[in-house]
Amino acid sequence: MSEHRSGRVVVIGAGTMGRGIAQVFVQAGYDVYLNDAVPKALDDGVAFIQKMLDRAAQKGSLHAEEALAVKNRVHAIRNVAEAPMCPLVIEAATEKPDIKTEILKSIQTRLTDDGVLATNTSSISITQLAAATDRPDRFIGMHFFNPVPLMKLVEVVRGLQTSDDTVKRTIAFAESVGKTPVQCNDHPGFVSNRVLMPMINEAIFCLQDGVAEAEAIDNIMKLGMNHPMGPLALADLIGLDVCLFILEVLHRDLGEDRYRPCPLLRKMVQAGRLGRKTKQGFYHYE
Ligand code: NAD
Repeated sequence: MSEHRSGRVVVIGAGTMGRGIAQVFVQAGYDVYLNDAVPKALDDGVAFIQKMLDRAAQKGSLHAEEALAVKNRVHAIRNVAEAPMCPLVIEAATEKPDIKTEILKSIQTRLTDDGVLATNTSSISITQLAAATDRPDRFIGMHFFNPVPLMKLVEVVRGLQTSDDTVKRTIAFAESVGKTPVQCNDHPGFVSNRVLMPMINEAIFCLQDGVAEAEAIDNIMKLGMNHPMGPLALADLIGLDVCLFILEVLHRDLGEDRYRPCPLLRKMVQAGRLGRKTKQGFYHYE
């Protein structure tokens, strides 16, 4: 086991992403200290990880004793002050700059001197979040993808003040949990969302303009471009509110009309049709 794999990691936020990140780290041998501001979210996150590990044991991909040992490495902490000193902290809380800034200010005290303070933000500037901490050189974007246990990529986003050593250590952490890190620089949307979101937005414009039905748009992109999922189904999976938020960031920060969110997307979000999580988006989910 490498130096990294025997370590401790703090994960803040036990929602969709935080619980997935916690799961891959415990399965790779780390002790994970998982926190959420909402007690039910923390309990649900821990229960979800346990269910995933039980499922892996039932399928035979994990021995029963190993599953138990892995479960014992998940430590739910109700308060960040309960976190031990750690070489890696990953913030995966709600996508709001104020929330993230407050979390980072309190959790930075639990970071070892050469530790990495990472955020899983999809759209907030790494340089801006780093500036709110006392450790901008140790701060970096570690952008995991949903569902975390299945998706190989970690987009490693370097802020203006991120040190070379922080980049090196982040890459090693990502590799130690079986992911493939790919580096980019801090810029609105990084690479992933700057390329993906305009495509999703354009697919929504096609729907709005009556160019084709949702299924037809998705089938054209799946069968013609070899995409595993159509852009509208993918938007439903990501969450239409999340897509709108990212497009607004791209539009505002890059200042170009081509990122203007489609009015139909806004209307869907106003109606509370957010995709899979509300069971209604461009498709209906039972
Ligand atoms: P989510 O809403 O499922 O989970 C966020 C969690 O953060 C909630 O459980 C909430 O209670 C918790 N939280 C809020 N304030 C907190 C605080 N002060 N301290 C501790 N916990 C707090 O959201 P998510 O989809 O898991 O997204 C989390 C982050 O990951 C966001 O930055 C998002 O942009 C990013 N992200 C999301 C996806 C995706 O597909 N969902 C993909 C990549 C990155």
